[in-house]
Order: sequence, then structure tokens, then C-alpha cells
Amino acid sequence: MAKSFDEDAGECPECGGNWKGEEIPEKDRECFGDRTHFSLVIGVEDPRIYDGVSWWMCPHCRQMWDRFTGEKTDKRVEIKN
Ligand SMILES: [Zn+2]
Repeated sequence: MAKSFDEDAGECPECGGNWKGEEIPEKDRECFGDRTHFSLVIGVEDPRIYDGVSWWMCPHCRQMWDRFTGEKTDKRVEIKN
């Protein structure tokens, strides 16, 4: 069974890569839902489909998950940077 997306797990279920970014300063945490670390997960948007994030992508293996269902998708996108 395919694992669904769980950003709070802190690591990628596909490649095991780390999703935890830098620590959020304690005074700012309430703005981030009391998370302790920034997330390295990338929000992927396709304005033709939806105005906002439609998928989450692992920055390491580029696996993507549907934002709404949490299910893995075979979709791939190029990232420019
Ligand atoms: Zn990954």
C-alpha cells in the first residue's frame, strides 16, 4: 500500500530524506502552528488547475503528493533555481 503524505513525519517515506529545515525561533512559532522547524517540502502550484498549492514535493527525490488527498502522484515537474 502506498504511504500517504505526512509532513509532520519530518522525513520522506520514499527516499528517507530529511524534511526538517532550520529551527523556528520560539517567539515566532505560534505563527507556524507551533511547529519547531521550518519545512523543506516544496509546494507545487498549477494555476490552470487550482489557485494555490496543489501538490507537495520532496526536495530530495521529487516525489509528489496530492495536497488534498495526500496520495502519491506520478506527476513530475521541473524546478528552476
Ligand atoms: Zn524523497
